[in-house]
Amino acid sequence: MNLLQETTLLAQSQDIKNIPFSKFSASGEELLYVTEAIASGGIIGDGKYTKLCQSWLKEQLASKKVLLTHSCTAALEMAFILANIQPGDEVIMPSYTFVSTANAVVLRGGVPVFVDIRPDTLNLDETKLKEAITAKTKAIAPVHYAGVSCEMAPISEIAYQYGLQIVEDAAQGICSKYNDQPIGSYGNLAAFSFHGTKNIVSGEGGALAINDPSLIERAEIIWEKGTNRSQFFRGDVDKYTWVDIGSSYLPSDILAAFLWAQLQQADSITQHRLNIWNRYHLAFEELEKDQKIQRPNIPQQCQHNAHIYYLLVDSLETRTKILATLKHCGVQATFHYVPLHNAPAGQKYGRQSGNLVVTEDICDRIVRLPLFANMTFEEADYIISLVRNSLL
Ligand SMILES: *Cc1c(COP(=O)(O)O)cnc(C)c1O
Repeated sequence: MNLLQETTLLAQSQDIKNIPFSKFSASGEELLYVTEAIASGGIIGDGKYTKLCQSWLKEQLASKKVLLTHSCTAALEMAFILANIQPGDEVIMPSYTFVSTANAVVLRGGVPVFVDIRPDTLNLDETKLKEAITAKTKAIAPVHYAGVSCEMAPISEIAYQYGLQIVEDAAQGICSKYNDQPIGSYGNLAAFSFHGTKNIVSGEGGALAINDPSLIERAEIIWEKGTNRSQFFRGDVDKYTWVDIGSSYLPSDILAAFLWAQLQQADSITQHRLNIWNRYHLAFEELEKDQKIQRPNIPQQCQHNAHIYYLLVDSLETRTKILATLKHCGVQATFHYVPLHNAPAGQKYGRQSGNLVVTEDICDRIVRLPLFANMTFEEADYIISLVRNSLL
């Protein structure tokens, strides 16, 4: 019997044939709250559920203000308007990230400056920051990959020293901490995602945390299409008018109602994900000792949210083989970002600082395994055995 026959047999015997890469876990109350939002007629933005979600997040992040958005992309766009990025201004970020981190800067006429990542966490390498700073640098955008925090102490120190703002791309970082403080509480601004593939979801959704109180008033205006509508509804001004640039960044309260159900289960969703993450991690210890793979590293000061479980294998060839075996056995594993500095728009709009050898090396070797809150240990064990077999 060859390996493929063996693993196929295993799939059949366990009656596990299709494990998606991600699957959202319903808390059970989503329909109730959505129905309630519809029944009460409150389906536009900034309604009851939006306010409930915002105050939950504000408390969780110990932030000065949180605004829900229709995506993390929208929150990032708001952030770089608020950071006052002007044409030619530079923002330092990893190349190993989602397009929205860079795109939000480019929309302001700014230039994303790509630096390399650390080989152990795949996060922005803080030791590469200083050499990327020029007279045009305005901000640093750390991306907390896999929900594991960047080194926010040295990053904050450098930002302070050079007078730069920090915009955290905390898309993957809900419920994670660094030095006992939540991810998203370190930057002047931080953007979160509730996209259907993230830990806490509303299909599409996001939030902007505003930690610098001087930015709150303008944030509300940008959020409400450039009008002072929020102030008007609070009774702070007697006319509601166009006062600044902005867009429609707020989600419908129907989506906020869905999100409210999810947020209330945030702890248990995170715990379930951590259980699966830890099971993978323990199971792959031997393979790491045998130098077949490299497992994710969680620095001691980081408390993560199990957003991603990944392995680094030895080559693109091995990765292709593992992904094919898993696919054949009904398991949807995947790779991740195509580095932005090599993407057509990255080359057109961005610039690179120093070499990006770690980024270029790991992007071909990373394998992300399925991980979702209601995944069973049997499913995880099945995936573990398939990975083991394909590395033999
Ligand atoms: C998911 C993600 C985004 C985009 O989030 P949306 O809510 O889909 O706009 C941005 N940055 C990173 C790092 C992400 O993982």
